[in-house]
Amino acid sequence: MTTDKSIIEPFLKILALEEEQGYQDHAVAGGLDKLLHRWDSDLSQIIGEFKSYSILTPSQRKQWAKINLQKVLDSSGLITSVKPKAPKHSAQQKKRKPTFNSIVTLESKVTVMKGIGEQLAKKLYRLNIDTIEDLIYHFPSKHNDYSAKRRINQLTMGETQTVVVDVWDVSASVINPKRNLWSIQADIGDDTGMARANWIRPGVKRNQRPYLANSLKTGDKIVVSGKVSGYRGTPFFKDNPEFENYRDVEQLIHTARRVPVYSTVEGISQRSIRRLIKTALDATSDKIIDHLPPQSINRTNVLGLKDAITQIHYPESQSEFTRARHRLAFDELLLLQLIVLMRKKSWQQEEFGIPLESTRETIDPFISNLPFNLTVAQNRVLDEILNDFKQNKPMNRLLQGDVGSGKTIIASASLIVATLNGYQGTLMAPTEVLAEQHFLTITKQLGCKKTGDGQAEVSIAGLKRPIKIALLHGSVKKKTKTLIRDQVSIGKIDILIGTHAVIQDDVKIPQLAVAIVDEQHRFGVMQRSSLIRKGKRPHILSMSATPIPRSLAKTLYGELDISTIDELPPGRLRIRTRWVEPNQRDVAYGFVAKQVEQKRQAFIVCPLIDGSETIQTRAATEEYARLSSQVFPEYSMGLLHGRLSLDEKNIVMNRFKEGDLDILVSTPVIEVGIDVPNATVMLIDGADRFGLAQLHQFRGRVGRGIHQSYCILLSDNAGEEAQERLKLVERIQDGFELAESDLNLRGPGDYLGTGTRQSGLPPLKIAKITDHEVVTIARQEAIHLLEIDPNLSGKDKLLLSKKVLRPAEISINQ
Ligand code: ADP
Ligand code: MG
Repeated sequence: MTTDKSIIEPFLKILALEEEQGYQDHAVAGGLDKLLHRWDSDLSQIIGEFKSYSILTPSQRKQWAKINLQKVLDSSGLITSVKPKAPKHSAQQKKRKPTFNSIVTLESKVTVMKGIGEQLAKKLYRLNIDTIEDLIYHFPSKHNDYSAKRRINQLTMGETQTVVVDVWDVSASVINPKRNLWSIQADIGDDTGMARANWIRPGVKRNQRPYLANSLKTGDKIVVSGKVSGYRGTPFFKDNPEFENYRDVEQLIHTARRVPVYSTVEGISQRSIRRLIKTALDATSDKIIDHLPPQSINRTNVLGLKDAITQIHYPESQSEFTRARHRLAFDELLLLQLIVLMRKKSWQQEEFGIPLESTRETIDPFISNLPFNLTVAQNRVLDEILNDFKQNKPMNRLLQGDVGSGKTIIASASLIVATLNGYQGTLMAPTEVLAEQHFLTITKQLGCKKTGDGQAEVSIAGLKRPIKIALLHGSVKKKTKTLIRDQVSIGKIDILIGTHAVIQDDVKIPQLAVAIVDEQHRFGVMQRSSLIRKGKRPHILSMSATPIPRSLAKTLYGELDISTIDELPPGRLRIRTRWVEPNQRDVAYGFVAKQVEQKRQAFIVCPLIDGSETIQTRAATEEYARLSSQVFPEYSMGLLHGRLSLDEKNIVMNRFKEGDLDILVSTPVIEVGIDVPNATVMLIDGADRFGLAQLHQFRGRVGRGIHQSYCILLSDNAGEEAQERLKLVERIQDGFELAESDLNLRGPGDYLGTGTRQSGLPPLKIAKITDHEVVTIARQEAIHLLEIDPNLSGKDKLLLSKKVLRPAEISINQ
């Protein structure tokens, strides 16, 4: 005779509940009969046949209960079988819980964990998880608070709570045959009442019950956490509550506490990743050694590392969590600051500097030749640079200035200082077009005369021989290239302007003292650092028109000194920016035509297309054909795209510059640096596809002369975020203000993303660069540590210095 003994305990509980509630048949939602009939085959072996509990009167039920309770108690052996559930559970747990294949350390690969094979390891790798340490450093993105534990009769509707219950009954039914979705319902109860839980799960295969429907059994003791709603007076955990087998609270990982929620990838469920991380944590938390020297911990009063890592995953309270996050954020920012400060210091090692003598008197003759006066901001910035030049430490300065603020003249003056001191200077631009432009502008500003293809010279009072300037980039003819390279290497060329061709290994610039990088955000660390290696330790000026919010700049570019040109040359009119509706496309074209009639010129930027340069080029070519035949047949138009050779590009650019072309249709290559003062309209098609900084760059192509200029944003379908962005560009003209608003709108992710990737700094996973308090504490501590121990060589800083050196090595070897 086989009786499923698991029903005994629920049965007894239900009878106890009925007694307590006066035999109202309320212990089970919908009445006891449903359950009794389902249990019939097992139950009838003990209590015999019965028809219905519901039809009985309360006093009849009382009688029935009394008799049957006795029968159950009498059936020998059954009572003891009620209890020994626990061993079964723990046996189950043991089987499921991954353990380790060998001794585990923080450095072990994740595959030491049983249950992590190649497949899973690959998926984890997509989350940047390779080692056990990576696992425990995979911090939760949030927590679900299931710490409110209740008895069933204490549950509050609408709140998220946890109950410890017996499973009384499990049923499963298909709710969506097409998608093979099942609903699994469980009646669950404790000594105080009954509740219900519902999960939606896919079937294992077509027509096969989901795994959960089979693994969850009548008689199981489980913990259920979730939001409680009511169903006909019965508490209902309706929406896939979290649950797990009952065990010691410390061991629970999905329920009954603040439960971590992790970012994950397809193929790793939330429960799986939670279990993996918890297993790793349990196995290694004792092996976590704090890398912070004890004095630092005392000074800053941060939580110890082991506690911080444990608490960030499974915090005991909100305040514990806050302290844990504070510590881990502090770590990231401290590391960032240490790296940045140490780089700055090693950069400035004194014996490598090249002091350049320069006063305003020496360059004023050159400045006074310009057709304009420098703005106050330009003058200030120039003084800052000249002052740096004098030191025997190499300068490393970021020059920020909005588009059109006049950075080029600062570059020219700086290069002149190098040559006046008998040294060489170089300027590197991100594109060939831009390098050519710089060559033209600078030679014009210096009043040079052309001496050959891409070469010019000028005589300067006080110098024995004229200064020679040359242009070098990929499209320069081979013969010229060789000549320029030779002349540079023997110091006969003083100023070399070009693209990254300038930093190729075969270019030697022995007397390099001033190196300028334009639009520095477009270059990676590697390119900048090989520029550095060209000479001894040249002074470096990085110029950027992509504004970085001030609040970020210091942390992100802490190794740099920053100069800012915060005003535009006088007389500039505010550019009028309009975001126009898709149905006003013709109005926008009409506006362009009107400007052209007034002898002004216009840019039309084509929408950004994902994919190759070729696809982008084709789209622009089609758009050009459409515009020139159908929209502006009477005007002269040009087309600029990435597939043109440099000569072709220059021809188009020069025709536009000289006013020979009325409208220039362009792919987004136009973005940087182009300077055509007579252009007054920038029409950006598909404006929603560009980022804020890019839109601002495009707009900066106009408004460079004396005429009122306009920027028209065309967008056929802008999503919500794009709309916000377009509204911002429409409203705000100042690049820094724009960046600051963007920071508020979207957080620092984007800046940091590109910022750290280019600077070779470690990523921030938990710290917010906008959190001034932690940033300040970390910076202070970094300064403090380096003051006492400039190379972090003390014994107590071994672990810390290891961490500091790690990312730095990567960035150099890249
Ligand atoms: P950007 O900072 O974007 O590189 P540029 O150096 O190209 O700006 O300068 C933009 C335009 O402003 C150029 O035509 C330049 O000649 C002009 N410019 C620069 N400084 C001044 C000034 N102080 N007064 C008037 N015009 C200036
Ligand atoms: Mg510029």
